Amino acid sequence: MQTRIVVLGAGFGGLELATMLSEALGSDAGVTLIDENDAFVFGYSKLDVMFSRAAPEEVRLPYADIVKPGVRFLRETITAIDPEAQRVTTNRGSHEADVLVVALGADYDFDATPGLAEGGNEFYSVAGAERLREVLPTFTRGRAIVGVCGAPFKCPPAPSEAALLLHDYLSQRGVRDDCEISLVMPFGTPVPPSPDTSAALLAAFAERRIEFVPGRRVSSLDPRRGVAVLDDGAELPYDLFLGVPKHRAPDVVLESGMAEDGYVPVDSRTLETRFADVYAIGDVATVGVPKAGVFSEGAARVVGASLIVRLQGGEQPAAYDGFGAGRVGRVDVDFLSGPKPTGTFKEPSSDLVAEKKHFGASRRARWFNR
Ligand SMILES: Cc1cc2nc3c(=O)[nH]c(=O)nc-3n(C[C@H](O)[C@H](O)[C@H](O)COP(=O)(O)OP(=O)(O)OC[C@H]3O[C@@H](n4cnc5c(N)ncnc54)[C@H](O)[C@@H]3O)c2cc1C
Repeated sequence: MQTRIVVLGAGFGGLELATMLSEALGSDAGVTLIDENDAFVFGYSKLDVMFSRAAPEEVRLPYADIVKPGVRFLRETITAIDPEAQRVTTNRGSHEADVLVVALGADYDFDATPGLAEGGNEFYSVAGAERLREVLPTFTRGRAIVGVCGAPFKCPPAPSEAALLLHDYLSQRGVRDDCEISLVMPFGTPVPPSPDTSAALLAAFAERRIEFVPGRRVSSLDPRRGVAVLDDGAELPYDLFLGVPKHRAPDVVLESGMAEDGYVPVDSRTLETRFADVYAIGDVATVGVPKAGVFSEGAARVVGASLIVRLQGGEQPAAYDGFGAGRVGRVDVDFLSGPKPTGTFKEPSSDLVAEKKHFGASRRARWFNR
């Protein structure tokens, strides 16, 4: 009988795993891939949308375009996960699995930051980025805060990138001199594992008059007074607030009993949870790497390689090293091999711009046949 592999979530991790299994096993892959959305959007595309560098429809990659032997995509909302029975309930029915892979990412906890929903904006969801597309053109003077409301959060360099892009955006509109920009981050430096990257970013902030507020997070907003309250009680006035909401695992994961301290603990070498034949990959899991798409993909490759061996035979794959089974990308920060994460920095260059374009294009081609 065919092994039923049910993959929950079609983000970086779920898409890579489904692709890999289809490539290796063809129509025998037996993969059911479930997501509640009708399209995938790269995280960094949200910055393009908010600053009107791309239209919302341009950055959507519809799941309807996934045509892969052995992979069935279902647009359903997962409402319950039973990891003991390997059964998933959705708004449309239930699915029994022989192998369950939870790749549901990290969700946002807006209520954890009082005032954020009423008096601020966030740029970490597609809806938030689309709203900001309307709000940003109305901002012509005063103080903008790019503020992180909790750690861990996805893609640690993204708030720094947002502050730099905001500077460019306001400069192009000729209003930069009438505006201030502050960046509130819960770390001492912009990208702690990479001192060189952090130094370059701090120099870029100084050059552009972007105030960096280190080691603090935004704990609430008082929209009536136009004030952001930091976790030490200090207050920063704002006219425009661009927030990174506090993250947590999706409710359905928290309610499944799989999570501890907000995320799903896994064996960091194999990505197995404490439940037999249940894996967790990417942002939803606790592994010791940052929440970023490249790490979710790496985790997917390790689980994919192990499932291929199980179904086809062959050598057991190498353990998870943050990037996954024998594939080497450009590695700036190494999180798992030493006692402390270490990073290297490459000077900004047009080659790196091309590399970033290639990053998106290669995945569009691999996952969506584009
Ligand atoms: C602004 C920004 C910029 C970023 N830039 C980069 C970058 O340059 N490079 C990089 O590597 N990473 C970047 N990231 C981070 C990256 O997007 C995430 O780390 C990555 O998407 C995580 O992959 P994942 O597969 O674990 O989860 P996700 O990609 O979040 O996928 C989870 C999926 O589960 C689905 N889901 C959740 N709950 C349910 C439910 N109940 N029922 C059905 N479906 C559900 C969601 O719809 C989603 O499609 C960025 C993120 C942001 C916000």
